[in-house]
Amino acid sequence: MRRFEGYGALITGGARGIGEATARRLASEGARVLIADIDAEAAERTAAGIEGAAFVRCDVGDRASAEAAVARAVDHFGSLDVLVNNAFSASRHVGPLEELPDDGWQQDLDVTLTGALRCARAAWPHLAARGRGAIVNIGSVNAEQDFGGHAYSAAKAGLASLTRTLAGEGAARGIRVNQVNPGTIRTRSWAGREKSLEVLSGVYPLGRVGEPGDIAAAVAFLASSDAAWVTGTTLPVDGGLLAVN
Ligand code: NDP
Repeated sequence: MRRFEGYGALITGGARGIGEATARRLASEGARVLIADIDAEAAERTAAGIEGAAFVRCDVGDRASAEAAVARAVDHFGSLDVLVNNAFSASRHVGPLEELPDDGWQQDLDVTLTGALRCARAAWPHLAARGRGAIVNIGSVNAEQDFGGHAYSAAKAGLASLTRTLAGEGAARGIRVNQVNPGTIRTRSWAGREKSLEVLSGVYPLGRVGEPGDIAAAVAFLASSDAAWVTGTTLPVDGGLLAVN
């Protein structure tokens, strides 16, 4: 399938994990991808292994940096058709409420939620230009159920709300906006915690934790014209965790 022939795609946090798998998947279907990541070296390495890919250092927590990444994509591709808001703040506080620091809360919301808004706002006119723009936000099962992490969960739930609001606004301009809510995915976030992943495998109705490619496949569907009549929705990709348990 070459669903993204002639498409330009920008993936935040695309240097590794789910973002990298998504970049590879979209590129394998014809997209030219720009990997925008705060870790420029890793972004460069990843882009070097993907045909037609480019990279840019980008901190979605900073408005100018997010806008520069979008400008780079438009320069590089001549247009922008797909934005995947995948970057997040990993410094999340998972301890008791009394120990939740204001600055930690703010940072998580600023990167994970406002970062997606910054990128969407900068990309908006470009996504509208060819009438086939698509934004896919990467949420989490934490948006729906309590798995700990005050700010992380609030940011991901906020992202689902932003997804709906942007879908409403974008519909008239040919921009679709959807969200994928992953369950546990084997990425660096779980490095060194093989035992936990083994235990978690038993919790998932489908008998395993997810792989980055499981999310990339869902993102590719929502970004493609196969989902031309899908907008404002949140798709759980969680091995049945929320629906079946
Ligand atoms: P990874 O940590 O593997 O990759 C995330 C990438 O984003 C890293 O390269 C990281 O750089 C980069 N990044 C961090 N902050 C910023 C920033 N401010 N601007 C741009 N890039 C940044 O993450 P995952 O692949 O595990 O997760 C990707 C997405 O999937 C996230 O939104 C996460 O919430 C979601 N998710 C993941 C789950 C999982 O189990 N893995 C479960 C549910 C949701 P650096 O390394 O320098 O920090």
